[in-house]
Amino acid sequence: MHIDYYETLSVSRSDGGGEIKKAYRKLAMKYHPDRNPDNREAEEQFKRCTEAYEVLSDEQKRKIYDTYGYDGLKNSGYNGPSNAEDIFSSFGDIFGDLFGFGGGSRSKARRDGPVSGNDLRYDVEISFMEAVHGVSKEVELTRRDTCWTCEGSGSRPGHKKEVCSSCNGRGQVIRSQGFFQVSSTCPQCQGEGEIVTHPCSDCNGSGLLEKTKKVALKIPAGVDTGARMRLRGEGEGGRRGGAAGDLYVVVHVEEHEFFKRDGNTIYCRLPVPMVKAALGGFVEVPTIHGKKKVDIAAGSQSGEQLTLRNEGVRNLRGGGKGHMIAELQVMTPTNLCDEQKQILKDFDGLCLKHGQHEEQEGFFKRLFSEVLGKN
Ligand SMILES: [Zn+2]
Ligand SMILES: [Zn+2]
Repeated sequence: MHIDYYETLSVSRSDGGGEIKKAYRKLAMKYHPDRNPDNREAEEQFKRCTEAYEVLSDEQKRKIYDTYGYDGLKNSGYNGPSNAEDIFSSFGDIFGDLFGFGGGSRSKARRDGPVSGNDLRYDVEISFMEAVHGVSKEVELTRRDTCWTCEGSGSRPGHKKEVCSSCNGRGQVIRSQGFFQVSSTCPQCQGEGEIVTHPCSDCNGSGLLEKTKKVALKIPAGVDTGARMRLRGEGEGGRRGGAAGDLYVVVHVEEHEFFKRDGNTIYCRLPVPMVKAALGGFVEVPTIHGKKKVDIAAGSQSGEQLTLRNEGVRNLRGGGKGHMIAELQVMTPTNLCDEQKQILKDFDGLCLKHGQHEEQEGFFKRLFSEVLGKN
């Protein structure tokens, strides 16, 4: 929906260029992204008043808009601000300088103040059992750490940085681009505002040194893939007295060939010999905490589930363990000797005698008549 450009800038149709510019400055200052970080509404307002200004400050566009309205303007080939997409990267910089805030003041803070180190991410892969029981690991991390020779200043001890002569310490240089003055990062000092004249010989003036450090990771029992641990101060080193960043350790857990896991519940398949399934009795179940003897009922079938209480994964936040669910899988015997075969044939004969085949026949009869239809 189009909002009238004059309304957007709160100016009247008879106002001249001077008033329009003044109105726009006021609004642009209010809604500028530098002053409203992460504020979508302000961002929209900023775009809207910039578009209004772009049209009303252009004599030709304003004439088309006054005569034919917004649709007429669009039909004339105007498609919103030419740089609507990167309005903040190009237009945004302009205001920092035009209105005396933003880039300039920021670079001053950057010049004098301490700079915190960056947070770092480290991905660690652990085994299934390590995740279940917890593990202490020592990892070697190479990261940029504060150079203690120069205490992160970059200057050789006894020497001070000099104010950058290109930008007079502002960190930004200004060049004219038509109507606007565009400010950009000073190429001489990379926006620092200062130049290291006697670079620290250890870090070549960067204030940071690549260092390899051993970091002890204490991974608690119960972690799963995606778990994040924060190690304060183990990230990149700070400069000029700034605090070190944090290290975020992201855990990845390997699969297990026997166990599966869903939260704190452990799943597994439990092969049971046919005879044991038929007669019932004790079977040994491997759990993540060791072996457990479990009594299974006579006549157990494939697919039936046994629940082993408290044999699952320890709750990461304390408070007990999950359960384990073992799904029975009845094993059909193979590689039978003649004697075994004979016994099974005799067994089959007994099944016939007891009418136990009829159960199977009954199943098929029902399947054909009820489930699949007639006959
Ligand atoms: Zn140094
Ligand atoms: Zn400079």
